[in-house]
Amino acid sequence: MDRTHYFSNSYREAREKFLQAASSGELSLRSYAHPLPGRDGEELAMDAALFGPADSARLLLLASATHGLEGFCGSGLQLALIDDEDFHSQAAAAEVAVLYVHGVNPWGFSWLRRWTHENVDLNRNCIDFDNPEGVPDNPEYDALADVLVPENWPDPEADERLAAWIGENGFDALKDAVQHGQYRHPDGLFYGGSEPTWSNLTFRRVLRDFGGHCKRLALIDFHTGLGPEGHGEKILMLDDSAEKSARARRWWGEVTSLTEGDSVSSRIAGPLACLLPQECPQAKVTDIALEFGTVPPDVVLSALRADQWLYRTPAVDAETRENIKRLLLSAFYVDRADWKSAILDQGINTARQAVSGLSAA
Ligand SMILES: [Zn+2]
Repeated sequence: MDRTHYFSNSYREAREKFLQAASSGELSLRSYAHPLPGRDGEELAMDAALFGPADSARLLLLASATHGLEGFCGSGLQLALIDDEDFHSQAAAAEVAVLYVHGVNPWGFSWLRRWTHENVDLNRNCIDFDNPEGVPDNPEYDALADVLVPENWPDPEADERLAAWIGENGFDALKDAVQHGQYRHPDGLFYGGSEPTWSNLTFRRVLRDFGGHCKRLALIDFHTGLGPEGHGEKILMLDDSAEKSARARRWWGEVTSLTEGDSVSSRIAGPLACLLPQECPQAKVTDIALEFGTVPPDVVLSALRADQWLYRTPAVDAETRENIKRLLLSAFYVDRADWKSAILDQGINTARQAVSGLSAA
């Protein structure tokens, strides 16, 4: 069966399909309007659609587009799950409500950026900005900032300097330096911000509006851009207790951890998952990111660097702009039926395992 129709070619199309699916599936919907318009002039919003009773003690939250354009994958997966009657029957029988949060960073989804409109990586933004000691340093990024995002693009001299750094320290060290996040270069890569972003504050509202009753809360946050093509890695972003790690491994089997260093992702501060225990303190929380591989990491980094140069250089001809956006999109979304099929199989299975886990926990 061809399931590619769950995926979309734009945020506007994805949102229309999501709203339509939520209404025909009789899910209860609440939309949180974003202050800015989208790339096609459309309205942007974080949309939350609930399957099951609002006062359920068990809640599974499925999130897309925390990293903007990674929503092309996550939205398709959400659409497939909403349309999966077996999945909803399983959830109803297990007394698990399912909350689909579509477009956590709708601006980045629409405008084809990984960051929010504040140029912030939302998965680095959920730290305590009132405590200056809690804002991480990143001296490696500081040293590489101008080489990573040079004044001109392409810039062979910057590439040479970066290659020399990799020759000395290894590509994994570069990946760590960049992915770790940084809080000193507001127009740089993986910037964590200086205050909570719109998406951070709005996701908190969603949690307060829908998560006040649950005793057991699970999050699967759909991501792309790391790991082997088509492979879904389950990552504990917030490995804050041995009990939670053990529970996640009971539910899902093989789970990697940023803390233990066995993940495709580097250690980071302030992922979105930090907000769950803060806004739903009554709940026992189990959260993972499900990270799907696309293209090799050097290709992803190169696309992000080009797009960051574009962000800093607004007066660029349309062809250059389109080329960079195409490059960026292809780094985070493989527009091929076999990739999408692999994503759907793994994503649906992971959601089913979460429903089983929530009912047994
Ligand atoms: Zn991501």
